[in-house]
This record gives sequence, structure tokens and C-alpha cells, in this order.
Amino acid sequence: MTTTTQVKTYLNYINGTWVASLSDNVVTSINPANRNEIVGRIQSSTEEDVDKAVFAAKQAQKAWQKLSGAERGNYLYKIADQLERRLDEIAESMTREMGKTFPEAKGETMRGIAILRYYAGEGMRKVGDVIPSTDSEALMFTTRVPLGVVGVISPWNFPVAIPIWKMAPALIYGNTVVIKPAMEATVTAAKVVECMDKAGIPAGVVNMVTGAGSVVGAAIANHTNVNGITFTGSNVTGKQIGHAALARGAKYQLEMGGKNPVIIAADSDLDLAVEGTISGGLRSTGQKCTATSRVFVQAEVYDAFKDKLLEKVKEITIGNGMEEGTWMGPCASESQMNTVLSYIEKGKAEGATLIFGGGYCDEKGTEDGFYVSPTIFENVTNDMVIAQEEIFGPVLALIKVKTIEEALTLANDVEFGLSASIYTKDIGTMLSFINETDAGLVRINAETAGVELQAPFGGMKQSSSHSREQGQAAIEFFTSIKTVFVKA
Ligand code: NAD
Repeated sequence: MTTTTQVKTYLNYINGTWVASLSDNVVTSINPANRNEIVGRIQSSTEEDVDKAVFAAKQAQKAWQKLSGAERGNYLYKIADQLERRLDEIAESMTREMGKTFPEAKGETMRGIAILRYYAGEGMRKVGDVIPSTDSEALMFTTRVPLGVVGVISPWNFPVAIPIWKMAPALIYGNTVVIKPAMEATVTAAKVVECMDKAGIPAGVVNMVTGAGSVVGAAIANHTNVNGITFTGSNVTGKQIGHAALARGAKYQLEMGGKNPVIIAADSDLDLAVEGTISGGLRSTGQKCTATSRVFVQAEVYDAFKDKLLEKVKEITIGNGMEEGTWMGPCASESQMNTVLSYIEKGKAEGATLIFGGGYCDEKGTEDGFYVSPTIFENVTNDMVIAQEEIFGPVLALIKVKTIEEALTLANDVEFGLSASIYTKDIGTMLSFINETDAGLVRINAETAGVELQAPFGGMKQSSSHSREQGQAAIEFFTSIKTVFVKA
């Protein structure tokens, strides 16, 4: 039976007002842990809604830019306080909307709060350099100006952290924002925007339009008054957005998929390596762009590593992320579950050997959700589809290697380059890994997933448009440099 009591309808937020879409259509967001529970109804918006939001953002931008960085920072501090007040509620909404366990959702929301406070401080930091001019009587320096209106298009896997790590730097540097969150994360995004509204952010500075990517996202990407687009999501969508932005000369930033390797060297601490492989590969149901996907293990320790891994994976508790003790929740949606299941079938058909899991999980209590069992394949070769394409689910592929050089060559032999890790005690091996791995995030004796808000984050190769998000690196995307030459 469908649970429909007290289902709230979430509106668009345009020019400081909550409004229904001009389409008059809503779509339901359901709980992936229980397909019968409706979490909320969200606006299925149109191009005209986007147009109104972009107009509001454009109108508000100059006044927002005119505030000092410290004044803009004060708004971010106030938004952080609002979020903190609603921490548990927002985390619960995230768990009910996309399945992540409640402790992880809470941790992510706390990260969102920390990101807001970090960028609030950035409003007081330097934005330029003085450069000696060849004219000794002149002053030459750089300053930075906002892009104008920034479009934010975000995925569902980090419903709070990603919208905030895009919006906070956009705002602190004087841009106004139109955000379109992923459908599966819209209720949570709406709560973040409610916090912004409650914090008194001026009308038009932040606008949210919800709905289908192919309509709302595409309208933002193609809008002539959107000066910059920051996108995180799949490669297929990213490329479309990049082309649209390039065609009209807008700045764009794309953070996309990964196929992240971990190398287990013969000299590694195997218990640590197993812990990092399980956590990196299976936490959040493998739905992190930095999730471990391919596990290269040196032959000498292959059997010992595999035995320990199998022992540990058996301990994973699967279930509704709101229940205490759940370690792994469902896939975020039915279509995500079906994608993961189809990759598992491909792995079997390609001749990889399934050594754990391998299908829909129907343990007691999971019957109504989109659950996939943690899955481990061995006898995987690097040319198999499951070793090349992003699965975005709880699936690990074990690949036996003779040497670290072989592991590195295979690890790099994919189109992606987001994160990579190695477990070893040898400093020489660490250094060659740091130098030679094709990844924007390199982690030694630590799992592939793990991003710190004060450090640059982004990928190489097809994982990124090569810009970096977060930390002080964010200023590069969200501003333009002006070089100023002054002669009195
Ligand atoms: P997705 O590409 O399907 O959707 C991302 C966003 O784009 C959503 O808001 C969606 O509605 C919108 N969209 C869809 N079609 C569009 C179009 N034609 N024009 C404009 N916008 C459109 O991705 P997803 O399934 O939400 O997220 C999973 C993907 O995100 C994975 O590939 C994952 O690796 C990637 N990801 C990357 C990072 C990173 O930082 N590199 C972080 C998290 C997730």
C-alpha cells in the first residue's frame, strides 16, 4: 500500500518566493528503501520557469556583487546556522529520499555546514596580486570579478554537499545562482534552499527550479544569460552541457564519473587494505564518484587478501538507512538498481567469476526496496566492461597482478582519472604511484573515497573538464581575472 499521508509538495524558489511551476505538473519522489513511501512531490518545471529564475538572478546580481565579501560571508554563516538547527531533519530527508544511511547523511550535512563556514571566511581573503610593471611609475595588479549568473546542476549522490560546494563559492565571489538539483535529491535540496531563505538571502540571489534534466537542466545550460555552469553528474550529460556552454561562450565546469583503482601491494597491511577496499567500494552502496571499483592485488598476497575480504563483506548489514545498525542502504532508484544488476549480468557473461553476492538482495525487510547485494568478482581482465565502465553500485572487481608496474599500467588503462589509492609500506612505491597514477585524487594507505573540503577536488582524463572544485581552487572557476594597469 502506498504511504501518502502528509506528503508535502515542494515548490520552486524564484526571486525570493516559493512558486509552483507554470506547467502545473508535479512528480513524486519515492523512498528507495520502500517503494510504497512517497517522500514528497516536486515541481516538474518548464523552460519558462527557468527563464523567470534566470531573469531574477540577473536582476539581483549587481547589488549582490556590490556587497563586501564580509557581508556576503555573513549570509553564508547564517545559512550554516539554519542548517545546523535542522541537521537531523535534513539528514533524515536525505536517507528517505536516496537511501544513504542516516549516519552518513548526517555526516554529509555537517560537511555542508563546514563548507558554508569555510567559504564565508573566503570573503575576507585575497583575490589578486600586485605584479611589477615595466613602467616604474605605474601600478599593475590583478583583481577578480564574478561571472554573473551561475547555473548549478547537481547529481543525487551527495544531495547536500555537492549543491553547497557549488553554491557557497559561487555566492561568496559575487555570483547569483540558479540551481537544478537531481530529481532523486530535490526534497533535500529544497530544505537547503529553505535554510537560505530563512537566513534572509536577498531575493533573486539564489533560485531553484526543479524537474527533468532534459528540460530544466538543458534550459539552464542553453540560456544566454547564464554566464557559467557548474555540473556534477554522468559523462553523457556532462558532455552535452559542455557542448551547449561552449557553443555560446559560457564558462563551464564538469565533474563526472570514475573507475577508481586500489592497488594492494605485497608488503601492505592487509587488514587495513581490506577495510579501505570495503569502505571505499561499498559504503554509500558504491554510489560515490570516488568509489573503489577495481582492486589490483599482487599475486603473493592475493589469496590472503581475498579470504579476508570475503570474511569482512559477510559482516555487512543491508537495510533501510534509517534503521540503527544498517551499514549499506539501497540503490538510490529503481533505474540505478537495474543498471547495477545489468552490469553484474555483463560481468558473468564476460566470464568473470562471481565470488560474493551478485544480484538483487531480498533479505527480510528489503523486499520493497531497490537493494543489490554487495558483489565481488574475480578473474576479471581489464578489458571487460565491468573493468572499464562506471557501475556506480556495490560491485568490486579483483584483478591479480605480478608487479606494481603492471598494476599501475592497468590502473591507468581506463578513460577515467578521478581517484586512485595504493596500500604499501614502501616509500619508493608510494612515490612512483604519486608520479605515475592518472588521477586527480591520490591516496596512500587510505581508501579511494575521501574528499576534504579545504583541498582542491577534481579528476583527470574523462572524469573532469580539468578545473578543480572546493578549497581555494574554487575561485578559479567562479571568477574572472582582471589585470589592471594604473598610471596617475
Ligand atoms: P546525471 O548526469 O544523470 O544527472 C546529473 C544532473 O544532470 C541531474 O540534475 C540531472 O537532472 C541533470 N541532467 C540530466 N540530463 C540533462 C541534460 N540533458 N541537460 C542538463 N542537465 C541534465 O548523473 P546522476 O545519475 O545524477 O549522478 C551520477 C553520476 O555523477 C555518476 O557518473 C558519478 O560518477 C557522477 N558524480 C561525479 C562526481 C565528481 O565530483 N566527479 C561527484 C558525484 C557524482
